[in-house]
Amino acid sequence: MDGAHALVAAVHTLCEESLYPLTDDEFAEMMAEVEGAMRRLETVKHRFVADTERRSLADQAGFRKTHIYFERTLRLSHAEALARVRAAERLSPQISKQGEDLGPALPYVAAAQREGAISADHARRIAWIIKRLPEITTDAERENAERILTEYACEGSPDVLPGLGEEIMCRIDPDGTLTTEKDRQRRRGITLGKQRVDGMSELAGEITPELRAVLEALLAKFARPGMCNPEDPESPCTATAADDIDALAAAAQRDTRTSAQRNHDALLGFLRFDVDSTQLGTHRGLPVAAMITMTIDEVERAAGVATTATGGTVSIPAALKLAEGSRPWLAIFDGAGLPLHLGRGRRLASPAQRLALIAAEKGCTRPGCSAPASLAAVHHVTEYAKMGATDIENLTLACDSCHALIHDGPGGWKTVKLPSDHRFPGRTGWIAPPAVDSTGTPKVNQRHHIGEQLAIELAKIHVRDAIAAKRHRARLCPRAPSRTNH
Ligand SMILES: [Zn+2]
Repeated sequence: MDGAHALVAAVHTLCEESLYPLTDDEFAEMMAEVEGAMRRLETVKHRFVADTERRSLADQAGFRKTHIYFERTLRLSHAEALARVRAAERLSPQISKQGEDLGPALPYVAAAQREGAISADHARRIAWIIKRLPEITTDAERENAERILTEYACEGSPDVLPGLGEEIMCRIDPDGTLTTEKDRQRRRGITLGKQRVDGMSELAGEITPELRAVLEALLAKFARPGMCNPEDPESPCTATAADDIDALAAAAQRDTRTSAQRNHDALLGFLRFDVDSTQLGTHRGLPVAAMITMTIDEVERAAGVATTATGGTVSIPAALKLAEGSRPWLAIFDGAGLPLHLGRGRRLASPAQRLALIAAEKGCTRPGCSAPASLAAVHHVTEYAKMGATDIENLTLACDSCHALIHDGPGGWKTVKLPSDHRFPGRTGWIAPPAVDSTGTPKVNQRHHIGEQLAIELAKIHVRDAIAAKRHRARLCPRAPSRTNH
């Protein structure tokens, strides 16, 4: 009880105390500290759920389930109450019927949360990924997946976790036996909810990577600012009308819709005009169709993941199937070869160069930016005006807002191609202005290179395991010379 009283008192002080006297550094440090404490409080919530159940409080109050008890007594929403009970099931110690402590179902996640290293959001996403691993996954693989995801979560954003999970899924089934594909097919479905009194309906469901690839290609064109805007009579609504770049730019200026509203209007516009998919026109100089890249090695093994230009992933067998139908742009590259060299002939990159960049960089190259290739433009690392060549070695992908950050003035970013002896040779490094990073170290964007990130996390675990094993051996036989260890 003392802990709870002290917490309430501390929260009271934080609410009332003036934060103005703190320096910026002190303020930032305090924020991080409080964030860590709030994360640790999630573990307390799990304990509360477990104890509520142990004491049968729901039963005593006449409610059938624990979550209903929380809905009524703590005034939680149905969704929140249910999520809390489920989180406690996964993350608080499980007791067997014989009264034996089995530990939490997700031990790594539980430990990281107890230390305040990961948020409830991280934990929820990891649990969601683990739950969706295919049936054939072994216990060891499941534990390994949880460990990798937690390792990443301690330093990275929850937004990257689904991608990392996807990558793990595709590696659990290296022979390409389609099990995950079957699992996905089983889960697919779209539900059009009942029409409500106000005339609106809810659309919900889970879609396969194939549908996503096609849908994203369509949205990249029809949901752009300015397209299919019902509030603007002059907004272009068809692929052909969108080729008038000036009209589209003017319509985009007048567009005040949210991206969700634009997606809605894009579907309506596309379905209403019943556009044949072969007549979708072009978007950023490439045909609007699912664009898929994979390496020749992956095609040969028919295993791994292919990347779509819109940043999604599909399994290689699914990608090959997609390539048979309609007319996607299927680009296959060998690991290193991007042998495109057109010289300083033209200012605009050719479709082939753009495809090569999509295969190599997969999206905007500024560290931390999640814009997929479909939202990025080709940018010259050394500006064309300063004699930069339109060679693949001098081109990189950057989204419009990141591209605008690159300039010679104060606060401007710079880009460089990283040399062959660098850890990421050939990739584009971004140098932040001194206010952001005083060391001026070029950094790469790992958000579109989840496979590489996976390798880095695995390497960290291996190193830590090796050190732990060494310490363990040293403890067991302290006088043995370390040379005898292999
Ligand atoms: Zn960007």
